[in-house]
Amino acid sequence: MTNVTASLVDQLLRRDCRRCVSCGRAITGARGTDWDVHYRIPRKRASQNPLVRSMANLLIICGTGERGCCGEFQRNPRVARWRGLVLWDSQNPETVPVQVGVEPPDDTSSYVPLVVRPWRYSEAGFRTQVREEAGR
Ligand SMILES: [Zn+2]
Repeated sequence: MTNVTASLVDQLLRRDCRRCVSCGRAITGARGTDWDVHYRIPRKRASQNPLVRSMANLLIICGTGERGCCGEFQRNPRVARWRGLVLWDSQNPETVPVQVGVEPPDDTSSYVPLVVRPWRYSEAGFRTQVREEAGR
């Protein structure tokens, strides 16, 4: 089931540089099988929470179901929440940065510990790197 239009998917792919936001791997194959649009606040909250449909809430993620990063979020939910990839309903996807994964050195299918960098996602469909604040 999908609620996002093809043109929105194109926008998201462009914004996320056709890479999985979580692991940095290039996106290939078919949407819904090899990759999909991920909802940081779950899609089932959409009727109660208008932020669910904000572009800031939507990320390009590899895998579906138990595969790829999609499956990784279910196996390691605390890590996914710490990285801002999965949010509580009370959080605002525009103000919680995403710890974006950097492409691993090779195309292994196993999960690789990543260097992550914080990016902020906007409702308008942009993302900007969060600068480290001095004195922290
Ligand atoms: Zn991934």
